[in-house]
Amino acid sequence: MRHIVWAPWRGTYITGEKPVSACVFCDIFKSPDDKNNYLLYRGNHTFIIMNLYPYNNGHLMIVPIRHTADILTLDKNEFEETTVLMRRSIKAIKETMSAEGFNVGYNLGSAAGAGIDAHIHLHIVPRWNGDTNFMPVISETKVISEHITDTYNKLAKFFCIMEGL
Ligand SMILES: [Zn+2]
Repeated sequence: MRHIVWAPWRGTYITGEKPVSACVFCDIFKSPDDKNNYLLYRGNHTFIIMNLYPYNNGHLMIVPIRHTADILTLDKNEFEETTVLMRRSIKAIKETMSAEGFNVGYNLGSAAGAGIDAHIHLHIVPRWNGDTNFMPVISETKVISEHITDTYNKLAKFFCIMEGL
């Protein structure tokens, strides 16, 4: 039985293979390999990635490009773009996956359950009526019905065509 917390790459920590680098989000942004990193969209101030250990299929995270642990340091541009990308993410997930609801929010600090507390990120978790996964702090790994790569391909296509939203 494997436990997951509100965090991507948690499995890496459990198996003791800690990333060498200081911050996995910064590494992903610097890497050119968006597909392998499941990076969906690069904005001017923020970017969107898929959670590799999702709470539900289609679980995304919006991350400021600037490395910061403190939400109070985000500037107007960073907040505005986060909001725009939150709307786009919700639209993309609704249209490609027919989500019926969403949980949207931050876990700020390890005391609040942040798996990667050094670099803040906004979670967007699609929900469907009847799904049983009500944001538990710790739960058994869910069986995700759709492979993450298929979801990535569907959503990435959508993000390409909605620059204007
Ligand atoms: Zn970082």
